[in-house]
Amino acid sequence: MTMAQSKQLAVEMRGVSKFFGAFQALKAIDLTVETGERIVICGPSGSGKSTLIRTINQLETIQSGTITVDGIELTAGGDNVGKVRREVGMVFQQFNLFPHLTVLQNCMLAPLKTGRANKSSAEATARKYLERVKIPEQADKFPAQLSGGQQQRVAIARALCMEPRIMLFDEPTSALDPEMVKEVLDTMIDLAREGMTMLCVTHEMEFARAVADRVIFMEAGAIIEQGAPEEFFGNPRSERLRNFLGQIA
Ligand code: ADP
Ligand code: MG
Repeated sequence: MTMAQSKQLAVEMRGVSKFFGAFQALKAIDLTVETGERIVICGPSGSGKSTLIRTINQLETIQSGTITVDGIELTAGGDNVGKVRREVGMVFQQFNLFPHLTVLQNCMLAPLKTGRANKSSAEATARKYLERVKIPEQADKFPAQLSGGQQQRVAIARALCMEPRIMLFDEPTSALDPEMVKEVLDTMIDLAREGMTMLCVTHEMEFARAVADRVIFMEAGAIIEQGAPEEFFGNPRSERLRNFLGQIA
């Protein structure tokens, strides 16, 4: 590879606007994410963070602009939405595990349903990722028998079982008791160090400092400021970001 060749873009958003009725939740967002890049998104409640990352796997449709994920143009229609969803894993604040399925069954469900794997390969993949998130011994338990931190690690393993190329996290530690935050962040740090492309909405600034290539600050549906963690935290340019950082510190 020569210096002139740029890396393939994982996500390319151009002029993306999202309306809920008359209310504009995203205001002509431009955002490009390189393959392997780790992005942290922060900002006040209601600023559009969840909406932004949910447009990437089409959990939210958009009204104008274009989104390309791994070279697949989302807005072009056809089967592209299905293709993109297979490449993008998502982890939510509420773990959204199926309560009537065991941990192993939760992890096997999507690969089986989408025809990605047969039973034995789905099980092997599930066990591999439960090992990766360090809870292989919980495979046969039901979600309610696990702590919140363990449930969130299952949710991460379940997303990884689809072998996604991009992972989206929407405040994955916000619903956890404080003593369980670290085990989930450590799992995310491992994933980041393995080179996964990640977009994480979080206010865990230690996490941002540890792994983010870029931190993005949103307010009122727009990206107000972004930069490498050192610059972002050490030398915030806008008054609004300074105020925000003051509040969450
Ligand atoms: P954040 O994740 O930064 O807290 P959201 O992306 O969830 O913000 O929401 C951005 C704005 O869009 C908020 O004002 C919210 O009330 C509004 N919003 C989000 N989802 C919907 C919806 N389904 N219907 C109407 N308004 C919504
Ligand atoms: Mg949100």
